[in-house]
Amino acid sequence: MEKRRCVVCRKTFEPTERVPDQRFCADESCQKERRRRAQKKKRRGDADYRENDQSAQRSWRQRNPGYQSNYRRAHPDYAQRNRVQQHDRDKNRRGTADVAVAKSVLLVNEDSSKRMSPLISGTYQLKSGGAGVLVNEDPIALKMSFLSVT
Ligand SMILES: [Zn+2]
Repeated sequence: MEKRRCVVCRKTFEPTERVPDQRFCADESCQKERRRRAQKKKRRGDADYRENDQSAQRSWRQRNPGYQSNYRRAHPDYAQRNRVQQHDRDKNRRGTADVAVAKSVLLVNEDSSKRMSPLISGTYQLKSGGAGVLVNEDPIALKMSFLSVT
């Protein structure tokens, strides 16, 4: 059988006959990565699977109280990396909140006759309306979906 290159470690390997479209070599770390990717894909595409997975994790945590804090204490590098990643996620979430504020400012600034004009979902360009509205003067492309106008 022909040799292939592993999609993770890039080493060549010979696929087993049982798995004709094998893309990962037999190394334990590459198989672990294969399972990680498959689970990620499954979580993304299958809401039932995702819900099951989350509730299984939740009940495992309840049966093993203290595991997470012990793990973090025993693996300070992991804990630090996690703090940085969470900080970035929080920053991204705040970015979303800023856009939401900008949207409400935009709606408030319109006079009442215009406020009832049909706002349609689409891509808008957000520009500074005055001094200090946006620190960055480059216009921001903004995709808006209107759920309702109150
Ligand atoms: Zn490999």
